[in-house]
Amino acid sequence: MTKACPVVCAVMLVIVAHQSLAKEFQNGIKWDTPPKVDPGQDAHDPPSDAIVLFDGTNLDAWNNGDQWTVEDGVATVGRGGISTKQEFGDCQLHIEWSSPDPPTGEGQGCGNSGVYIMGRYEVQVLDSYSSDTYHDGQAGAVYKQSPPAVNATRKPGEWNTYDIFWTCPRFDNSGKLVSPAYITVAHNGVLILNHFELKGETPFDRVPRYRAHPPKGPIVLQDHHNPVQFRNIWVREFKPAQGIRVREPHFRVGDKDIPVKYVQIEGKWLLKQVGDQQVEPSDEPIQLIITYDGDVSGYTGVNRMSGTLTDGDRLFGPIATTRRAGSPEAMQLEVDFTRSLSEANAFEVEGATLRLFAGDELLLVFDRAEE
Ligand code: MG
Repeated sequence: MTKACPVVCAVMLVIVAHQSLAKEFQNGIKWDTPPKVDPGQDAHDPPSDAIVLFDGTNLDAWNNGDQWTVEDGVATVGRGGISTKQEFGDCQLHIEWSSPDPPTGEGQGCGNSGVYIMGRYEVQVLDSYSSDTYHDGQAGAVYKQSPPAVNATRKPGEWNTYDIFWTCPRFDNSGKLVSPAYITVAHNGVLILNHFELKGETPFDRVPRYRAHPPKGPIVLQDHHNPVQFRNIWVREFKPAQGIRVREPHFRVGDKDIPVKYVQIEGKWLLKQVGDQQVEPSDEPIQLIITYDGDVSGYTGVNRMSGTLTDGDRLFGPIATTRRAGSPEAMQLEVDFTRSLSEANAFEVEGATLRLFAGDELLLVFDRAEE
């Protein structure tokens, strides 16, 4: 008899109860209607719920704005940083910047400015098109914590956009960090930081640490003695969708509600039979995780099954397994095995035996492996 152990050693099967009526999952939460927002003509336009911080006319929304110059719709770094008069917590920030053309200086001295969220956490602004520097200090870096995933900086004199998605850190009443800050940034539309967890503030000469601060803070643009230009700055305060749980999750079937019940069978199994053909027990147990939600009274009844095959690292389609070299019989068994997993729509567990079915047809039989 030929071994029929597939290359796949872990199998996840998800089984949901068959119903003659369509079954719909309902999460039991009554959501508020999301407010309507006019997004504007293109991605650079402030959406209708944005707070415009600089529209090209003046820096009245900023402290120290009178120390910078505003000309032709563009603000240029002057003496000292500027900080928004309004403070923000979780937010989406759009900002456009351009480094001096022709470039002057090198490394950190070439087109350096910065966007400090909450006045403390810097996303670097730098001419990383012309000049090299340490990577966690280049344009798009969370300063001294992470480089951008890629360098999407445009030439000096051209306009760069940052779209920053910010989740502020949370502190308890005693000042202890409850959850860190997270940042996602698209630079010129290119994702460069994806839900990066900040280690704390972003100083030049200290270890990054969190220091408790109020839930909102200003946006600060840095003066690093380079005449970097800015335009089109707007921010949206972010509040997630609101809702309240009005009941527990359930399934809706016709006019009936069925509570969600969850069964998970997890274990190692040795393949014993494919169809009606006995196979020699493999020496490599198969990890099977069967999850089942719905009406557990249908546990051994007719179910619908969909399957995902993994070996822990890779994901296979049920049929897309690599066949082992072997006899035509062995290969056929593997084909039958994977096909059976994709077609199985019911299972039963009896003692140490697991059987998978398609309707009434027995597809696969396993014995529980010794742990
Ligand atoms: Mg800087």
